[in-house]
Amino acid sequence: MAYNCVVLIKQVPDTKRITGQAMNDDGTVNRSALPAIFNPEDLNALELALQIKENFGGNVTVITMGLPAAASILRDSLFRGADEAILLTDQKCAASDTLATSYIISCAVKKLDPDIVLCGRQAIDGDTAQVGPQLAEKLGITQITYVEELIELNGKTITVRRNIGNGFQKVRTELPVLLTVTSEANDPRVAAAKKMMKYKNALAPIEVGQRIKAQNPDADGPTTKDLIEHKCSTLDQKKLLIKQWGLDFLDADLNWCGRSGSPTKVHRIQSVVLTAKESKDIEPNDRGISDMIHELIEDKTIS
Ligand code: FAD
Repeated sequence: MAYNCVVLIKQVPDTKRITGQAMNDDGTVNRSALPAIFNPEDLNALELALQIKENFGGNVTVITMGLPAAASILRDSLFRGADEAILLTDQKCAASDTLATSYIISCAVKKLDPDIVLCGRQAIDGDTAQVGPQLAEKLGITQITYVEELIELNGKTITVRRNIGNGFQKVRTELPVLLTVTSEANDPRVAAAKKMMKYKNALAPIEVGQRIKAQNPDADGPTTKDLIEHKCSTLDQKKLLIKQWGLDFLDADLNWCGRSGSPTKVHRIQSVVLTAKESKDIEPNDRGISDMIHELIEDKTIS
């Protein structure tokens, strides 16, 4: 049996190399101040999907929701072996929290009717690990989180090993399923030189528009539109046009998207810098823990 795999990938700020003003005043991430990378555990999810394709047949589609610049991780996925790439981008997605993000992504995934949906366990910027489980809920399919090994795939039955902190659990279920994949699952492959040559010029329509406007700053609106349409159709014929979906195409309910679909509100951001003199040794016994809890309550650190 061949498997239709969909992998959710996210472009994230490289949190190891934070520079400049990392946060905006409204509590959102200032992405332009940070170098962007492929979320590490999404590479493990992609690798698992590619191994499924190689061992059992099928295809791998990658989806990212983000700004036009996120198309670079879609190209990277094509370099590594993905068959198809989809950019979900729309100004109406801005300010989406995890609930709105997973709703928008669910509208896209439903169009692809996959057997296996793969996510990274967690994104290194938002760090919530919520999008995978929320997406499974919205798709109405089984979820298995913290997957560190695919043990067996037999027809419509999948068996995996999941990390439970102090040990592991073997879980078997029926497809369709959503897996969230950890960094222990595999060593992601690097980009293949031949595929890099093939896909290095793959672009999403929004990127085509940006380039044409930069190259023809004096062209009027209709000319620019013609140039964009011509370039997109040439890329499409060569199978180098990255698909781009917006909320209209997804028939998404706008009440569930962007700010109106996001119940999370950031009230205040605070940098906590601990210095050595603020640290304190606590005796590892009931008395030590009880004293610490009392102290934290008196400090109003907890209530
Ligand atoms: P996790 O739940 O930790 O990610 C788990 C896995 O889900 C990932 O490994 C990946 O496989 C998948 N995944 C997660 N996000 C995506 C994605 N975008 N595309 C594809 N797969 C994905 N972010 C913005 O970019 N712009 C904004 O304007 C914005 N506004 C926000 C406003 C608020 C109030 C809040 C709370 C957050 C906002 N965010 C914004 C952040 C955004 O909600 C999160 O980045 C997003 O929901 C993913 O959450 P996470 O990073 O915790 O991912």
